Amino acid sequence: MSKDNDFGSLPRQAYSGNLLERAAALRGDEAKLAVLRAHERTGTYVIGGESVVLKAERAALDPLFSAAEARMLGIARETIFLGLLHDAPRFGVGIDAAAIEALKARADLKLIDLRSIAVQGAVDAVHVPPLAEAKAILGWHARHRFCPNCGAGTMLTQAGWRRDCPECRAEHFPRTDPVVIMLPIKDDRCVLGRSPRFPPTMWSCLAGFCEPGESIEEAVRREVAEEVGVICARVRYFASQPWPFPSSLMIGCHAEAVSDNVVIDESEIEDARWFDRAELKSMLLRAHPQQFSTPPPIAIAHHIIRDFVEYGSGVLLR
Ligand SMILES: [Zn+2]
Repeated sequence: MSKDNDFGSLPRQAYSGNLLERAAALRGDEAKLAVLRAHERTGTYVIGGESVVLKAERAALDPLFSAAEARMLGIARETIFLGLLHDAPRFGVGIDAAAIEALKARADLKLIDLRSIAVQGAVDAVHVPPLAEAKAILGWHARHRFCPNCGAGTMLTQAGWRRDCPECRAEHFPRTDPVVIMLPIKDDRCVLGRSPRFPPTMWSCLAGFCEPGESIEEAVRREVAEEVGVICARVRYFASQPWPFPSSLMIGCHAEAVSDNVVIDESEIEDARWFDRAELKSMLLRAHPQQFSTPPPIAIAHHIIRDFVEYGSGVLLR
């Protein structure tokens, strides 16, 4: 997805391509984890809610703190072993909202959300996937402090990759929520929609959560039918993207539309219509006469659309 073509060499999507070896076998080994925490090359990402804490001492913003520096930023609610980068241990630390508020006044720090980090290229790209890993799992801990089975307070175990209930003994594992994001295609055209949350000129793929008891293909067909009233047949998987807002996995697909009429579900989307490839190309190139645009390259939607512009309905035959 980063090759040269009509659009030049574009940045890849954000949050995927994590270089960390997760080293899951170490998660239950307290003695080895203690050694890793004290390792001289240990680096820690610090997150509180939606805010990522960055060092702003030099020209480039730096998201990695030493263990001692991280301790100075506030009480760690959770510490997660994220993995190893070429043998250098990486941890994620979650701090509470009050500590985050206190840090906002400091000139040597910058607090910024992870979406803005990706859009602005605010830190070295190598840090963005582990930040997504840290944000997703720290967010899971923040929302799962009590056992859904019996209501008792749960405890972090396995270096942050499980919570155990001391009362009913249930073991709780971090969740990832599957979301289908798709482009319904018919010959040389496809359907894009607009959410009321979008910037005023942006159009994008349709998307929605997979429901229990549903395959990816079934979720794609249901969501397209619900949101724009278009019937789809063949569904082809394209690629996926971790989306840590709060803990989704975007599953990108192209779908073969077999009907034309667009009927909008106004509770979900503001507008939707057919676009042909020439119009989409002008949007990708930021040359559309009405300044219509697609999502930026950090988002998988951009690449799903671009693949169709490049290869047409052939994307359904792979
Ligand atoms: Zn329980």
